[in-house]
Amino acid sequence: MSLPELLDRAAAGGRLSFDEGVRLYHEADLHDLGAAAHARRMQLHPSNVVTYVIDTTVNYTNVCNVHCTFCAFFRPEHHQEGYTMSHDEVIARVRRAADQGATQIMIQGGVNPELRIEWFEQLFGRVRAEFPHVDLHSLSVSEIVGLATVEALPIPEILRRLKAAGMKSLPGAGAEILVERVRKRISARKVKPEEWLGVMREAQRLGMPTTATMMFGSIETAEERIEHLHVVRELQDEMEGFTAFIPWYYIPFKTPLRGKEATGLEYLRVLAISRLYLDNVPHLQASWLTPGLKMGQLALFYGCDDMGGTIIEERVVHDAGNTNEASRRDLEDAIREAGFVPAIRDTYWNIRSDYALATA
Ligand code: SF4
Repeated sequence: MSLPELLDRAAAGGRLSFDEGVRLYHEADLHDLGAAAHARRMQLHPSNVVTYVIDTTVNYTNVCNVHCTFCAFFRPEHHQEGYTMSHDEVIARVRRAADQGATQIMIQGGVNPELRIEWFEQLFGRVRAEFPHVDLHSLSVSEIVGLATVEALPIPEILRRLKAAGMKSLPGAGAEILVERVRKRISARKVKPEEWLGVMREAQRLGMPTTATMMFGSIETAEERIEHLHVVRELQDEMEGFTAFIPWYYIPFKTPLRGKEATGLEYLRVLAISRLYLDNVPHLQASWLTPGLKMGQLALFYGCDDMGGTIIEERVVHDAGNTNEASRRDLEDAIREAGFVPAIRDTYWNIRSDYALATA
């Protein structure tokens, strides 16, 4: 099949094989790839609405026993710069975000073995009681596995208890590249690819919506990026539990794993191939936090239909050297200037027309 034929098929929702994905990644012209991805996005979401969520991230602890080489945020146990917020401190941050209209809170941190499951149950219970309109889209697979280890409890039990305490949805953080060779080099102590997928499967079985991410730009090859997409697509075929896919690139500046930051062109290529390869994942998110809002605008023409969140507070990417920030007004202006219509959504991708746009 010729490249144009392959692009036409993918743009119409035809499934790409692994080899076809690799071929498109290597050989397709970037603009052709983007046009196909945008056509597919418009097929999936025919209106020109681009959503975003009003949210914040509260990084409640930087103590972590996983020690990923690409992470500038964590501190090992007993390090003098290690911190763990009290429940009151977390609640104060949630309140600040809720006062600014947040509908979603991402409480996420390192894998701190000092924290027991009751700590999370009490915290989530307080958030649920004090901010009933806010959804807890919180923790990560690594934190779930860390808790299961500390408590010597099975993963489904940990997830059930957290869900009962108020955790509504599990973010896709910590996927990095779901290929063993890469994980051994960049995060040898982190959960293995099949463990990451297994925790997601369990969360989805419990009816929790989840997202999937891909942190690219470290040591992986193009083939390994496609392999990552492939295993996400396989789990989605089985469970249909991923609401969105969120590729973002690693920031090398202050991390032990030195390297070169991905280019804008590489970012757009990854977005477009993700939209085409993941024919079964509804949404593709422009993660403007690392590439900035200008790239976020371009991302809307490479398959993305969502601009992510306002991320009122965030430390993990910030500590790696990222300084991008955006207000609700900035996000809405960026979406409009790109020719789309902004809309506020919640964690479940419902449009929240009961929330006024900042620039209405
Ligand atoms: S990326 Fe997460 S799991 Fe890895 S060291 Fe940083 S905080 Fe720990």
